[in-house]
Amino acid sequence: MRSARPALAAVLLSALALSGAQPEPPAPPAGWVKETVAAVDKKLDAEIADLVALYQHLHANPELSFQEVNTAKRMAAEAKKAGFEVTENVGGGVVAVLKNGPGPVVLIRTDMDALPIVEQTGLPYASKVKTKNRDGVEVGVMHACGHDIHMTSWVGTARVLASMKDKWSGTLVLIAQPAEEIIAGAKKMLEAGLYTKFPKPDFALALHADPLFPAGTLAYSEGLALANSDTIDILVKGKGGHGAAPHLTIDPVVIAARIILDLQTIVSRETDPFDPVVVTVGSIHGGTKHNIIPNEVKLQLTVRTTKTETRDRVLKAIDRIAKAAALAANAPPPEVKVSLEEYTPATYNDVPLSRRCGALFRESQGADAVRLRKPVMGAEDFGRFSEGKTPIFMYFIGTISQEKYDAAQKPGAAPLPGMHTDAYAPVPEPSVRTGTRTMSLAALDLLRKGK
Ligand SMILES: [Zn+2]
Ligand SMILES: [Zn+2]
Repeated sequence: MRSARPALAAVLLSALALSGAQPEPPAPPAGWVKETVAAVDKKLDAEIADLVALYQHLHANPELSFQEVNTAKRMAAEAKKAGFEVTENVGGGVVAVLKNGPGPVVLIRTDMDALPIVEQTGLPYASKVKTKNRDGVEVGVMHACGHDIHMTSWVGTARVLASMKDKWSGTLVLIAQPAEEIIAGAKKMLEAGLYTKFPKPDFALALHADPLFPAGTLAYSEGLALANSDTIDILVKGKGGHGAAPHLTIDPVVIAARIILDLQTIVSRETDPFDPVVVTVGSIHGGTKHNIIPNEVKLQLTVRTTKTETRDRVLKAIDRIAKAAALAANAPPPEVKVSLEEYTPATYNDVPLSRRCGALFRESQGADAVRLRKPVMGAEDFGRFSEGKTPIFMYFIGTISQEKYDAAQKPGAAPLPGMHTDAYAPVPEPSVRTGTRTMSLAALDLLRKGK
C-alpha cells in the first residue's frame, strides 16, 4: 500500500501495532459485491451440474493420505482444463498458477485425502473402496471430512475466476495438497519449494466443510482458529507370562491403564483451567489372548494445545508420567515418541483478512448466515502456509440440509453425525455452491482492480 505521507503512515501503523488494534480492511465500492455475486452465480449455474457430478465421483473414489494418486491427477486435469499452468507432484500435491497482470498473489488451498472409515451413509454414490493403510492393514476409505467438497469448490472457483479474468488483476496459485489428515502434506509441499519455485502468496485462503450447520451458512474465527496438534506413540514395556501367574510377570496392560488415567491429571491438575489442553488416548493395543500377559502395550495419543509454552510443558509431562508409571511397576522405561512428521502448529487467521472476508460473506450470504465463533481444538496443517508472515484465512461452510439441521434441534433428537463419522453425508449442490461462491468472491475482492 502506498501513501502520500509515508512518515505519518509509518507512525500510525506502529501506533496501531503497539495498541494491538488492527487497521480497518478496505471495503469494496458500493454495489460491487452484489454485481460480483450475480456474475459468479451466473457462471456457477452453468457449471453446477458438472461440479455435482465431479463431487460424486470424488466421493465414490476416496484415497488415503499420501496415496492420492488418482485424485491428484484429476485435480491437475481440472485446473489445466480451466486454463491454469499446472505442476504435478510438488511434495505429492498439485500447483496451478494463473497469471493475470500486476497485483497480489492469492493462494487457494484444497486438501485431497480421505479417512480409513467404512462408509455407512447408504448414498447411491457412497464409497465402497477398500485399501491397505500404511501398516498394511485392509481398511475402508471414506471422505468423512468433506475434502471432496473442498476439492469441488476449488475446481468451481478455478472455473469462475478463469472466466472472469477481465474483473481481476494479479496471480492465482491454486494448490491441492496431500495428507491433511495426518497433518503432513502442507509441510511436504513447502519443503518441495511451494514458496520458492512458485509465486509466493500475499494472502492464502482455505475453506472447510462443517457437518453441524446448514448449507448456505458460514462460521469463522478471528485470530486463533485451530489448535497445535501433536501425535505421540507410547510403547509400554513389561515382561510377559501366564495370565494365572502375574507375580512372575511385569504386566504392561496394568501399567498402560495407569498411564491413561494419570495422563488426564495433566489437564485437570497441572494446567490453568483457562488454558485449553486436550490429551486423548485414541488407541490401545496389547496382547493376543485372555490368559497371556503380553510383553508390551502400544498407546497412540493426540494432544492439542494453543500456546507453545503449554505444548512444551504438556509433552514433558506425558513423558514424565509414562516413565513414572513404569518405574512404579519395576518395568523397563517406556518409549515415548513425539512425531515430528505429524505435528502441526496452531492456525491463526489474520485478523484484518478475516474481517475483510467476513464482511464480504455477510453481504453475499446475509448477516444472519455468517457467524463469528470461538476457536476449536481441531487442527489443520493449513496454518503452515502462513510461515509466520503470510496472512491466512480459513473458514467453515455448513454442509447439511436445513431439514436435517432443524430436526436435530428438537428436544430428544439424535445428534447430527459429526466430522470423521461413517454417516456424514453433505448435501452436494448447496454446499458446493456456497464453497465456490464465497471462495470466488474472497479471491475477486483481494484481486480487485482499482482498489
Ligand atoms: Zn479431518
Ligand atoms: Zn479436514
